Amino acid sequence: MNPMIRRESQPKSQHITWMCGKVTTQQREVRNGHPSCVLWLTGLSASGKSTIATELERQLFNRGNQVCMLDGDNVRHGLCSDLGFSQEDRTENIRHIGEVAKLVASHGLICITAFISPYRADRELVRKLLPEGRFFEVYVNAPIEVCEARDPKGLYAKVRANEIKNFTGISAPYEAPEHPELELRTDVLGPDECVGRILEYLDGFEESWRSVQVKS
Ligand code: ADP
Repeated sequence: MNPMIRRESQPKSQHITWMCGKVTTQQREVRNGHPSCVLWLTGLSASGKSTIATELERQLFNRGNQVCMLDGDNVRHGLCSDLGFSQEDRTENIRHIGEVAKLVASHGLICITAFISPYRADRELVRKLLPEGRFFEVYVNAPIEVCEARDPKGLYAKVRANEIKNFTGISAPYEAPEHPELELRTDVLGPDECVGRILEYLDGFEESWRSVQVKS
């Protein structure tokens, strides 16, 4: 185990104090006209996470929502450029992204994330970072044979040629969500239908948020 990796929530540093800002998440949400949350897309490589996430972001933006998307390869170019694909590094990668997603949502945005995030415990850790009812796990589900046949980045071909190790679904595990808020079978539904299902879900979430705002 890499000693640099801390799984406990206690910070390593002492004598640090949490500084509260003067603008609350709720104030930001009221100004935006919609609640904030994290939509956490998880699934095998080529299952359709990025395709769905980018189109969803576009549609939410076009309807006037405040939205931000975090994508797998992109964070590995910067924030997580020091992390690889061992189990420890994948866990640390998801912890970093979870903290960023929490920050984004706490500023009133809808945060869409598109990461394989293969380990159940890592995803549950992120769920616990967020306030109750603000983390939605979306299982982007397609059989591995379908993903391999799509292979938009040529990664499966490289795995078969022994050029990539620790590849999720082939030489590294994928722990499917047990109780996702949404499951999208991308071998059955088209991308637009998948985006539509998420928008429908978000509409329900927004409606219940609105009814609480009216009462209070
Ligand atoms: P991931 O981000 O999960 O690695 P990508 O979105 O990069 O996957 O690639 C998924 C591929 O599958 C794309 O070529 C996309 O056009 C195709 N595809 C087929 N059906 C769907 C669907 N229902 N949802 C998303 N992508 C789909």
